[in-house]
Amino acid sequence: MSQSSIFHRDLNSDLPVVVAGDGNFLIDATGKRYLDACGGAAVSCLGHDHPKVREAIKAQVDKLAFAHTGSFTNQPAEDLAAHLVARAPKGTGAGRVMYLGSGSEAMEAALKLARQYCLEKGEPERRHIIARKPSYHGNTLGALATGGHAGRRAPFAPLLIEVNHIDAPYPYRLQHDSEGDADFAVRMANLLEEEIQRLGAETVMAFVAEPVVGASLGTQPAPAGYFKRIREICDQYGVLFIADEVMSGMGRTGTSFALEQEGIAADLTTMAKGLGAGYQPIAAVMAAQKVVDVIKAGSGKLWNGHTYMSHAIATAGALAVQQVIENESLLDNVIARGKQLEAGLRKAFAQHPHVGDIRGRGLFWTIEMVADRATKAPFDPADEIAPKIGAAAKVRGVMTYPSQGCIDGINGDHVLLAPSYTSSEAEIEQILETLVHAVS
Ligand code: PLP
Repeated sequence: MSQSSIFHRDLNSDLPVVVAGDGNFLIDATGKRYLDACGGAAVSCLGHDHPKVREAIKAQVDKLAFAHTGSFTNQPAEDLAAHLVARAPKGTGAGRVMYLGSGSEAMEAALKLARQYCLEKGEPERRHIIARKPSYHGNTLGALATGGHAGRRAPFAPLLIEVNHIDAPYPYRLQHDSEGDADFAVRMANLLEEEIQRLGAETVMAFVAEPVVGASLGTQPAPAGYFKRIREICDQYGVLFIADEVMSGMGRTGTSFALEQEGIAADLTTMAKGLGAGYQPIAAVMAAQKVVDVIKAGSGKLWNGHTYMSHAIATAGALAVQQVIENESLLDNVIARGKQLEAGLRKAFAQHPHVGDIRGRGLFWTIEMVADRATKAPFDPADEIAPKIGAAAKVRGVMTYPSQGCIDGINGDHVLLAPSYTSSEAEIEQILETLVHAVS
């Protein structure tokens, strides 16, 4: 290819030109086929050419693309919101949905809704955000400041918005040898209470967390009981809980929302990747009824808006994606293929001298590479172990999501897998075989 005019992430390397999708495969201009084992970054959960989604998008293009939300609503946007609210984790009661164009925008919108809620409730002193490290909440300024991703924050430090961070549960490195899982979960959750008390309870607006960590540490589910204790603390101190389900939501972990499995609900929930499955750029934030009620009784106005929110083609595409997941019982396949993937990873790598940890849930798994398994010493970042594994798998025609350097003081070499919900048994075997070659 001649020199690109696009600002690619790496300005000094060429990328293959992708020209088509075929089921769970991508095809480049040379005809090379790539089995997509990561969906980009956990996006393409229905492969790349699902006929029902394509038909729904085409049908909407023929009817209507855009009408401004200041004057109109539209049917696909309404139907999708009703679908999401009906499937929200039971608890605080889902109320309404706002559509955005990306996960970062959804996080910004959630933070602004939280602030609006506090202001309209007559608690203007509540402005502090507490988030976790490691975590990733997006690339816009507010979302970047909220995230605890050392590598992504560093070039922009000091960040424009001040956010307070507590440690996220990372059992591989933070759980004491003699500590049981339940004690570890409570100890980590209680860090939130300590931070609220340090800042002054009446000044804290919201706590932000990914129910299953994604882009900063590879996948990392929280230990059982962690989020129950988080919910108790938030309720005790009147702090809103914002669950970032941008990666973990929409079936990726085997249930519509990952938080469902913790038996609690958040006050504000963001979602993005599996919402449109890459067929359309779309994200959303869902607010609990208590947030909607305060705003309705207050100004009655939403203090946030973007030109393209509730876009009819984007919502029609996303509605079709969600209907396919449900109508084709794909969450059953997520669980079955997830078990196969987990078993395969454990069989292949449980004794591997450089695989320190294997963790995940549903079809959302990660291996963490270390220089020394006994001491858990990481590789030198300059060795670029995770990117090299990703590159070796790509040469063999399998796409994975490698990441590095996300934690202050500890290099992370993680390889994340997030195959399509439509994956076959044979495709999961191909992913495993290729990863074994790439790692070795
Ligand atoms: N939140 C989480 C948990 C994410 O994983 C990401 C992206 O990876 C974002 C937010 C930001 O989403 P986007 O890249 O669509 O802005």
